[in-house]
Parts: sequence; structure tokens; C-alpha cells
Amino acid sequence: MAGSSDFDFFRTSEEQDMLRTSVRSLAEAKIAPFAAEVDEQARFPQEAREALEANDLHAVHVPEAYDGSGADALSTVIVIEEVARVCASSSLIPAVNKLGSLPVQLSGSEELKTKYLGALARGEGMFSYCLSEPDAGSDAAGMKTRAVRDGDSYVLNGVKRWITNAGQSQFYTVLAVTDPDKRSKGISAFVVEKDDQGVSFGAPEKKLGIKGSPTREVYFDNVRIPADRLIGAEGTGFATAMKTLDHTRITIAAQALGIAQGALDYAKGYVNERKQFGKAIAEFQGIQFMLADMAMKLEAARQLTYAAAAKSERVDADLTFFGAAAKCFASDVAMEITTDAVQLLGGYGYTRDYPVERMMRDAKITQIYEGTNQVQRIVMSRNLPA
Ligand SMILES: Cc1cc2nc3c(=O)[nH]c(=O)nc-3n(C[C@H](O)[C@H](O)[C@H](O)COP(=O)(O)OP(=O)(O)OC[C@H]3O[C@@H](n4cnc5c(N)ncnc54)[C@H](O)[C@@H]3O)c2cc1C
Repeated sequence: MAGSSDFDFFRTSEEQDMLRTSVRSLAEAKIAPFAAEVDEQARFPQEAREALEANDLHAVHVPEAYDGSGADALSTVIVIEEVARVCASSSLIPAVNKLGSLPVQLSGSEELKTKYLGALARGEGMFSYCLSEPDAGSDAAGMKTRAVRDGDSYVLNGVKRWITNAGQSQFYTVLAVTDPDKRSKGISAFVVEKDDQGVSFGAPEKKLGIKGSPTREVYFDNVRIPADRLIGAEGTGFATAMKTLDHTRITIAAQALGIAQGALDYAKGYVNERKQFGKAIAEFQGIQFMLADMAMKLEAARQLTYAAAAKSERVDADLTFFGAAAKCFASDVAMEITTDAVQLLGGYGYTRDYPVERMMRDAKITQIYEGTNQVQRIVMSRNLPA
């Protein structure tokens, strides 16, 4: 697995190209065959989880010191991109395992890292990230979930909403208020386990897309956890949560790239087969120009995403801008490309007999989660490059 941080900005290494080839063939053989069914039945892609875990691709970002593969940020992007190319729901397994566990990796004690990153890497449980609440979305610092210190424990009460892979995951990074007078500086991060007494889950949301990825509320009813499950110092949780998003928005960009690539690949094949007016529709310049625009936008989004991944790996000073820009640009491009792919298939594109309508529905979420694209623009405008 690639582990070097000195990769070229705009070119992948030979090792990363080999990684792409192997993830693509695994995704096509073991994940693609179930993608339509997972969407249709809105069921968790267990086959994808098993295939990814069997091949150590479910959480490639975990450092080698904690039993992980130690993949760099760009290699992680490549894994997510290739899984999303065939099934966006399945790509949330490696993506959200990184999102959920990165707070521990960035700010956790050595004991927390050894215990939880190790368990994740060994496939003993997935990780989810609990920031959003029913009344605290874009304004995440307005959260109400409380954690109160009681001797050697903290006691958590509250509701988190929209939690990806809730119920499937064994481990949860939970943001909660420890000092209500300090707003974002009074928020702390904790690891909560699915089996902790008082943890329960709401019914899965009925969504437009990524239907295979369960999105549920998580309830904390007097959940008592050992005080050493605190990630970093009290009051640093919100900063850790935001630092995490700087890195993981790039994984959402990767998901968007993969969805768009899947739609473009399918549309390219289709226009060569479909005949109207006595010839393949690929021979019409109007179609060729659409494909050219789709490929151009996708490549621009890919370059920005890979540049952001390089910055994530080095933790460059302008990472916050690049993480937001990559997520925003790649997700807008994915929405355009998937919509155009439906157009290229005409009426057939509008039916579930073809995968592009699923890809269009799946693309939409990439403009909304890990901060809406309006929020990305707020983040970018506050962190404009010098
Ligand atoms: C399928 C799915 C999975 C998710 N997974 C997770 C997860 O795993 N963990 C987690 O913590 N959260 C998760 N989320 C939550 C997601 O990050 C939030 O939905 C998102 O941040 C937006 O919050 P909101 O839905 O409350 O919208 P709101 O904040 O209510 O926004 C509504 C609209 O107002 C706009 N808006 C808000 N404030 C401003 C402003 N200042 N300027 C301009 N426009 C503004 C928004 O851009 C949006 O268009 C998930 C959401 C979904 C739908």
C-alpha cells in the first residue's frame, strides 16, 4: 500500500495506479453486481463490506502502527473513487470509516488510538461520526447533546441526526457540549460504542439516493462512558471535528468523482450502441460536445481533488480552502455530469433499467453532506488563498 507523502501533485505513482487497477477489478466483480439491488431494496451493501474488509480496503487510512495499511490521502481517494464508480452507497464504508475515526487519529490518546484504530483496521467494527442534530446542521456549534462529568465517567444525553452507517457501526465519535457557556469551545469529542447502555437508533431515513447507506438518528439516554473515552482535552472537540472535515471533505470529492466517472463511462458506451437516423448517436457532434464537456469537467475536478489530497497528506496551511473547494467543485460537477448522462440515454436514462438515474440521485448528496456547498463557499471565502 502506498505510504509516501512526497507524491507529485498532478500525477499518481505507479503504486497508486496498481492500487486503482486492483480496486477497480474488485469493485466490478464483488460490488457492482449488487449496486442496483442495494438501491432498489434500500439495504446495506453487506457484500461490499465483506469484500472490502477481506481485502483490507475498508479503512486504508489507518496508520501501520495501529494495524492499518497506512495509505496516504491520495491512495484513500483512489479507493473511494473506484468503489463509488460502481456503487456510491458502498463507497461510504471506507469514506465514513475515515470520517468517524479521524478525530481519534488526530487528537486521541495513544490508548484510544491503539484500541479503536486497531479494531477498525482489523475489521472488528466500523466507525461513524455524530456531529449533526435535528436543529444543528450548518450551525453545528448550536448542538444540544450534553456530556456531564461524573467521577471517572461522562454521562451523555441527546439526539444526533443523519448519522451515516448508524446501527451498522460499532464505534461512534460523538460531539457533545461539556460547557454550555462557551459555545464551540465548550464542545468535546468522545468515543461511544454501539453496545454502551442507553445507545439506540431511529428508523432508517427514506432517501432520494445512497439508499444502501443507512442514515439514522442516534439516541443517547444517560449513556455512561469511562472518562478516558474523551478525545483530546475537554473543550477541543469542535476544533477536532472541523480539522477532521478539512481532510475528509476530500473523500466526498472522491466519491463525487467516482459517481461521475461511472456515469460518463456508461454514457460513452451507450452512445456508441444506440442508433437513430441510421447511425450511432455518438456520430452526432451535439453528442460529442456533451461528452467532451463532461470529460473536461471531470478531469478538472479530479486534478483539484488530487491537489487537495496532497495538501491533506502534508497538512499544508491552505488545506481548509482546498478541502472545501475540492468537495464543492467535484460535487457540483458530479451533479452536472450525471444529469447529462441521463440526457444522453434519452428516455431509457430516466428508467431504473439503466444505472445512470441512480448515479444522478446518488450525486445529489455530495452537494449536501459534510457541509452544504453554500457552507463550503463560506469556508472558502474565509480562507482565500494568499
Ligand atoms: C444522507 C445524509 C447523510 C449524512 N451523514 C452525516 C453523518 O454521518 N454525520 C453527521 O454529523 N451529519 C451527517 N449528515 C448531515 C449533513 O451534514 C447536514 O444535513 C448538512 O450539514 C446540512 O444541515 P441541515 O440538513 O440541517 O441543513 P440546514 O443547515 O438547515 O440548511 C438548509 C439550507 O440552508 C442553507 N444555509 C444554512 N446556513 C446558511 C448560511 N449561513 N448561508 C447560506 N446558506 C445557508 C444550507 O446550505 C441549505 O441549503 C448527513 C446528511 C444526509 C442527508
